[in-house]
Amino acid sequence: MIKIYFIGTGGGAPNKRGLPAYLVQREGLYALFDVGEGTQQRLIESGLGFMRIRVIGITHLHGDHVLGLPGLLETMGMYSRKEKLTLLGPPELKDFVSEVFNRTYFSPNYEIEFAESYEDSNIRITKFRTCHVVNSYGFIFEEKDRINIDAERLRREGIKDWRIIRLLKEGKRVEIGTKVLLPEDYLVVKKGIKVAYTGDTAPCNDVINAVREVDLLLHDSTFLNEKEAYDYGHSNSKDAATVATKANVKRLALIHISPRYDDATPLLKEAMKVFEKTFLPEPFSYYILQE
Ligand SMILES: [Zn+2]
Ligand SMILES: [Zn+2]
Repeated sequence: MIKIYFIGTGGGAPNKRGLPAYLVQREGLYALFDVGEGTQQRLIESGLGFMRIRVIGITHLHGDHVLGLPGLLETMGMYSRKEKLTLLGPPELKDFVSEVFNRTYFSPNYEIEFAESYEDSNIRITKFRTCHVVNSYGFIFEEKDRINIDAERLRREGIKDWRIIRLLKEGKRVEIGTKVLLPEDYLVVKKGIKVAYTGDTAPCNDVINAVREVDLLLHDSTFLNEKEAYDYGHSNSKDAATVATKANVKRLALIHISPRYDDATPLLKEAMKVFEKTFLPEPFSYYILQE
């Protein structure tokens, strides 16, 4: 199960929706994507806290996505964090962080690792390029595929010997008298759940290719219908829906809503004309993805 907390769903300038921040949780792993100003406060108010966060991904260095990061990192230090924190993002992120640390007389008492990607036994987090006006990336958070034994088939065939099952699981062929059991007949691949977050982007092929077939796509949907959206490297809600359709994703969440829309329902309506499985996440809400 993967849970996505929509901490801040606005973009540009703050309003009630807050600035970009999405917390993704799978079992004990918490990863935060973008840290707009005010994110610390919103994490506290929502009762989620932030000490458990293991990975932070920053899409790009525009203020609305990164100005909450230094404060969050410094508070983690103040609360005597010991665990390593992995930061993913554009190469210039490292300079930004060390410059702020210098200027605010802060040195972390925990390890901060700048990395290209994150991986453990269950999860992989990778980045992809988006089409914005500055160097900018999106992130894919995915569960690794798991290979399970086809218990149903074993039962049907009356195979109960755990030694045989273990060999099949290890991908080995097993001979029982004249009968040959091939591992590929008894193994089933369980597809992992995949979530993609674009950060800021105009609609483009790089993004379509990167987010193909994901279970949930969080796509830039800054405006309702503005020609100049593309000049600023952003998308209208209908563009987000077109990307979702072309990439054949399962569900679309409209994010990075401009503060000019007090009520964003018209953005949702426009998008749903193109891609029906679209929703407009409320700030502080969450969404659960299950196999
Ligand atoms: Zn932005
Ligand atoms: Zn931006």
